[in-house]
Amino acid sequence: MGFDGMNCPNCGSELPHAVTRAKMIACEYCESTVLLEDDALKTAGTKGVMAEEPSLFVLGRELHYRRESFLPVGQARFSYAQGWWDEFWAVDGGGEGVWVSVDEGEIAVERPYEIDIPLRPDRLKLGATVSLNGETFRVTEADHATCTALRGEFPETLHVGQTYDYWHLSGPMGRLVTLEYADGEFAASEGVWVDPYLIRSENAQA
Ligand SMILES: [Zn+2]
Repeated sequence: MGFDGMNCPNCGSELPHAVTRAKMIACEYCESTVLLEDDALKTAGTKGVMAEEPSLFVLGRELHYRRESFLPVGQARFSYAQGWWDEFWAVDGGGEGVWVSVDEGEIAVERPYEIDIPLRPDRLKLGATVSLNGETFRVTEADHATCTALRGEFPETLHVGQTYDYWHLSGPMGRLVTLEYADGEFAASEGVWVDPYLIRSENAQA
């Protein structure tokens, strides 16, 4: 069961083919995002306006980094105090979903992460150290962000206008843990910063 052969509940257009087991997809023809829940489709919200910016990351164009490949299939844009960044939902060479965070030249690849201790937002101050799963991290960024636009498909429900708190925790060897806090709950992902100069596009004009 998926979005294949199904139509947008708002405008009736055929929904795009979903590459992953998507839970949410943005209609290409109207302003709607569409949620798949219990094998039924419903309108989740609006997809917002994605201002076009030149980027190495384009939905449907595979990228290579070292021995890994990533096919971006969803793009979520977030605004924060310093501007905005994109989170690309991508399928890796093993068929697993990963998030690729792109803030100008700063790129991180992240996967879901289980937190082994209860956390409190008020303890996560800039510069504080946090021990997670036996590793020590330092809080290097603490801010809040608002989702402003969505395109493509996603593994979870995202809403334009939704605001949440987030923290970047930096660990040894370029390790990164991102914490998000919304509606009283933490979500975490772990990953590494990647060197943008080592990313190769399928049809790059080198
Ligand atoms: Zn539609």
